[in-house]
Amino acid sequence: MKIINGAILPRPEYETMQPGLDFCRRMGVAMNKRLLTVLLSLCAAGFASADEPLVLCKGFLPANDLKIEVGDVNALGVSSATFYAVLDRVEAVYKPIFAAKGAKLKLNKRWDDPAVDASAMKFDATWVVNMYGGLARHQAVTAEGLALVACHEIGHHIGGFPKKSGVWATTEGGADYFATLKCMRLVLTGKEDTSKLDPFAATACNAAFSGEADRKFCEGGALGGMSVATLFGVLRGKPQPSFSTPDTSAVAQTLEEHPAYQCRLDTYLQGSLCAKPVTEDVDKAPADGACTASQGFRVGLRPRCWYKAPAGQEGPRVASRPENAPSEKELEITIEAMRQALSGS
Ligand SMILES: [Zn+2]
Repeated sequence: MKIINGAILPRPEYETMQPGLDFCRRMGVAMNKRLLTVLLSLCAAGFASADEPLVLCKGFLPANDLKIEVGDVNALGVSSATFYAVLDRVEAVYKPIFAAKGAKLKLNKRWDDPAVDASAMKFDATWVVNMYGGLARHQAVTAEGLALVACHEIGHHIGGFPKKSGVWATTEGGADYFATLKCMRLVLTGKEDTSKLDPFAATACNAAFSGEADRKFCEGGALGGMSVATLFGVLRGKPQPSFSTPDTSAVAQTLEEHPAYQCRLDTYLQGSLCAKPVTEDVDKAPADGACTASQGFRVGLRPRCWYKAPAGQEGPRVASRPENAPSEKELEITIEAMRQALSGS
């Protein structure tokens, strides 16, 4: 089953996991969020046989009703061959990594499923990633974009800090950061065609990495971000976010759910730009396997539009800005001059 706008829909990958979930499936298809919460509690407390409660990730995207069937006129994304090739590679890379953590990765490749989304969940030591063909068939989704989405879901399982309150999953922003910080560097081939990468991102990767291989993986991560950002733009019905217009907001506390689309794109770029070794795990502390201002990094940090760093360890307000862009001080002076001009003072 899958949650779409408060409705629970049957899905085979769930039905085979636990007998108690069959109860959930039979409970009907349309219910409000309050009923849904009660039902999930029942599943966790009385019907799920596992020691650990059933926990669901809401998915890569905010709830949407978009569906793209196989053969649909709008099926303009990647082919089934690419879908399986990308996900087979993600599976091959991460099965042993999960096994080393005492878990079994179950990566469900549901090519026939029309849902434009992906999700992650956990049943005891079986950690599940669900990838749906509808997402892969969306015209915005490239092989790199598909890999990034799978990496985001992997990140919910092993993306480490910061975690959602009281549950196993890494936060949405943390899963986005992990996707390009670690996962994309392992699942990309290094031979991706990055010639059409946004120049802003290409320049940033070039400045961050002197080595060809590192630069190439940085560009590949950003390329995946471009694909997903295009998807965000289409779903929102507005122009897609851009690398060169970073989110300038700063949260008062770390956001656990989906950040704004621009903020998510910023996160993909910053994960790509971080120079921490890919072999160093993101664990419990902010600096584990990640770039932080406390370690002297100026790029590659978790963006402040979703992440609240410990006091005194905040990075720059905007993670990356064009070289010729005015500084915050210059902007303040300009705004003050405009204010005075408008007020006639
Ligand atoms: Zn997610």
